[in-house]
Amino acid sequence: MNLGRAGMECGEKIGSYLGRIVINSIDKPCRKDGATLENFLRRRYMNPELELCTGCELSYKFLATPTLALAERMLKVDRDWISSMLKGRYGESWLKGIASIARGVKEFGIREPFTPASPLLVVWNLTYKCNLRCKHCYEDAGKERVEMGESEAREALEKLIDANVSAIAFSGGEPLVRKDFFELAKRAKKAGLYVSVASNGTLIDEKMARKLREVADYVEISIDGLSEKHDTFRGIPGAFERALNGVKHCLNEGIDVCIATTAWRGNLEDILKVAQMANDLGARFIHFNYIPVGRGRKELDISPKEREDLLEELARRNLENYVKLGRGDLILSTAPQFGRKTKEVAQLQGIDYLVSTHYGGINLPIEKLRSIESTANFIGGCGAGRLYLAMEPNGDLLPCTFFPREVKLGNILEDDLLEVWKKDQILEELRDRKKLWYFRKENRKVGCGACEDKLICGGCRARALAYFGNYLAPDPGCVRNAELIS
Ligand code: SF4
Ligand code: SF4
Repeated sequence: MNLGRAGMECGEKIGSYLGRIVINSIDKPCRKDGATLENFLRRRYMNPELELCTGCELSYKFLATPTLALAERMLKVDRDWISSMLKGRYGESWLKGIASIARGVKEFGIREPFTPASPLLVVWNLTYKCNLRCKHCYEDAGKERVEMGESEAREALEKLIDANVSAIAFSGGEPLVRKDFFELAKRAKKAGLYVSVASNGTLIDEKMARKLREVADYVEISIDGLSEKHDTFRGIPGAFERALNGVKHCLNEGIDVCIATTAWRGNLEDILKVAQMANDLGARFIHFNYIPVGRGRKELDISPKEREDLLEELARRNLENYVKLGRGDLILSTAPQFGRKTKEVAQLQGIDYLVSTHYGGINLPIEKLRSIESTANFIGGCGAGRLYLAMEPNGDLLPCTFFPREVKLGNILEDDLLEVWKKDQILEELRDRKKLWYFRKENRKVGCGACEDKLICGGCRARALAYFGNYLAPDPGCVRNAELIS
């Protein structure tokens, strides 16, 4: 180990130690006021008039205020911006998330990228049942398998709420075929979680859209190409028309709608057309990275160069939207390389901008963007087992919904979610970018482990596992790793 690296590691350890002491001092339950950390966040960002008992008032003034101001400076985020998010429509969910990030320092130390004290998001594949037969289905939906019953599902949801999860995404199979979907979504919403639904859209008529508006903050509908191409891929004639109607019904209800398109060998030429269609309809667009798991075969994958070109065009459109409309979240991608690509495209135009997670854009005014890369490094690309977990219809927990069922971490009904989150060794490995592999090629190092952008990206760990049999291997979908698979 050279002295520079040893010095950095020592600095990280001291920073983490001090961080733990500080967070501990502002995160103590108060018998009069309740959870102090949440109260301090409310007071600084939501309600300066919030009354606190004398002890909490002193802690707020002398401990919480300087700590939060320092965190804002370190992360280069604006206090007014945090205020506007916490006072906005999804304030409760943001509050849970920020508290979890702070408690993550106590639990895991100061890390780049960070790990919160509990998953910020759980993608819940609610059912294996589906009314379509998509070629690429990661869940291999349609096959009969044991699922949680209604009371078990209710119990599972209460466990997620108790663990302070801030967002839940109902997926499947097709989540809307499950009878108790609305009951579960309503409970999640009432508990202050951000609720999203990933659907094939074909079951969403006007009545269903009206009901969705009451429980869902965001509805994502999959459309994989224009007309026949979508029907062929999804395996049912008429699926395109029905999905499109689903999009329109949700938009008519004022729901935040996003059209999701998985890019594979057979639909590449349609991707940008679908993105344009989404834009014309007033919906957002997200490109889904093809991952050969479940029914998805490797032969259907696109090449690293095709992926790079697609991401470049999406990044260009994302930046254009950001500069013109102040919206960095209208066009996104689940490929973690999207952060790197938006950075490269923006740098060519002299703008310090990047999408700080591949699935969430920035809407901060351009004059307030300050060294956005440090925030992006902190947020950190691939979130498998670090920012989020997936939950199967039978309650099994996985690091990411695209991980095979063999990488089971536990089961929500049998295990303590937070114990799994804190102690599981697979999760620990996934969170540490220093563990990513690289290979030596002549005098060069090739692979995510040696990449200068491994903090903002990290490569798709599910793709690494699918191709190399190890989740720490290089992501073979990236142009920087292309020579490893040629
Ligand atoms: S080499 Fe890996 S970490 Fe670097 S940009 Fe490509 S996928 Fe991301
Ligand atoms: S492994 Fe990471 S990048 Fe890949 S799909 Fe899962 S969260 Fe996204």
